[in-house]
Amino acid sequence: MAVPLRALLLVLALGLAQPASAPRKLLVFLLDGFRSDYISDEALESLPGLKEIVSRGVKADYLTPDFPTLSYPNYYTLMTGRHSEVHQMTGNYMWDSNSNKSFDIGVNKDSLMPLWWNGSEPLWVTLTKAKRKVHMYYWPGCEVEILGVRPTYCLEYKTSPTDINFANAVSDALDSFKNGRADLAAIYHERIDVEGHHYGPSSPQRKDALKAVDTVFKYMAQWIQPGPEAGNDRHCQPLSGQDGSFCTKADIFWKDKVIELKQHISLGDLQQVKDRGPLVSLWPAPGKHAEIYNKLRTVEHMTVYEKEAIPSRFYYKKGKFVSPLTLLADEGWFITESRELLPFWMNSTGKRAGWQRGWHGYDNELMDMRGIFLAFGPDFKSNFRAAPIRSVDVYNVMCHAAGIAPLPNNGSWSRVMCMLKSPASAAPRHLPGGLALALTLLLLLQ
Ligand SMILES: [Zn+2]
Repeated sequence: MAVPLRALLLVLALGLAQPASAPRKLLVFLLDGFRSDYISDEALESLPGLKEIVSRGVKADYLTPDFPTLSYPNYYTLMTGRHSEVHQMTGNYMWDSNSNKSFDIGVNKDSLMPLWWNGSEPLWVTLTKAKRKVHMYYWPGCEVEILGVRPTYCLEYKTSPTDINFANAVSDALDSFKNGRADLAAIYHERIDVEGHHYGPSSPQRKDALKAVDTVFKYMAQWIQPGPEAGNDRHCQPLSGQDGSFCTKADIFWKDKVIELKQHISLGDLQQVKDRGPLVSLWPAPGKHAEIYNKLRTVEHMTVYEKEAIPSRFYYKKGKFVSPLTLLADEGWFITESRELLPFWMNSTGKRAGWQRGWHGYDNELMDMRGIFLAFGPDFKSNFRAAPIRSVDVYNVMCHAAGIAPLPNNGSWSRVMCMLKSPASAAPRHLPGGLALALTLLLLLQ
């Protein structure tokens, strides 16, 4: 992946025609770079597919992403219900000083090492261990063996999936449910994020990418009709769904709002630098920590934190890959070692000359970092507006829809129970792993 991502997650849980005792089908969409205002009431008027999903289910006012508001931390927060300092996926770019190994978003083989992924068990691994059939399409990390487990099927991310790729993945997922090949299907799509980076969150290109997704959703919603319990007498397809997006995007301005580190410190005094943009991780060379820290404290439009001083509300500082110094830019500002290293993209000139116009990674409480959450299906109220939730909360909802006990997590059940039809009997039990597995086996045996 050429650029850091942030995400929209759309989760649908399907109860296709099947015996009542069979596990529910769960369909999850991760739509990258989807800001909450992209589906404002006004915007929904020209998005018939999403409007249909909203009217049939739950829409949270917005979803607050985990910190940092970057792709991999939030992908894993959604799938584990844990903050980044707990699941340990703390960046799109990480460095392990012990092994001298790097995690660089989508570009190096070392990123597939269990070292980065085994900090927590994602839902797809839990379901696979429970003998559920899991199909994943372009989902970052589905090709990785995590805690000794791989999903039933993984269509690996190679390059940014096209609109056709996305439509085909949805079609294949629905077919897989119908013929019993899958219990969970998870689909990742990136074009909304890519266009938002290149042209900006308000650009026609970003809106066009969303319309393409909406068209697929329109057909999908037609295919998935309410089942008997919702009053339909023919299709026998009760559907419950959730849709969430985490971090979204702020406009950036490379003409004016770039912080060049080389103007403030000697880059030779750094042992390691990871990422550029709103959040940059620094490992000062031996003996240089205090000097680097003191020089960067005077730089405007950003904050430099020593690891222990990072605000607790970020749930970030305890991560084992967090660097001794973390730089966090004010909204709209972009930190880089030097201007020459800005992540230009290849535009119509055929050269890497395009400026980026949107980015994410800033403070997760900023409005422009907010994502969305939608859900529909037999478990969910219809035409229901829910109060804001956080990305750590989505995991419990997915576990509920899939009918599996959640592992211990940081999500709040009280923030999501209002959206369910019968939450009282379904409150998740946070159990130690062994007990959770035993409970799952009991459920399957009944
Ligand atoms: Zn992005």
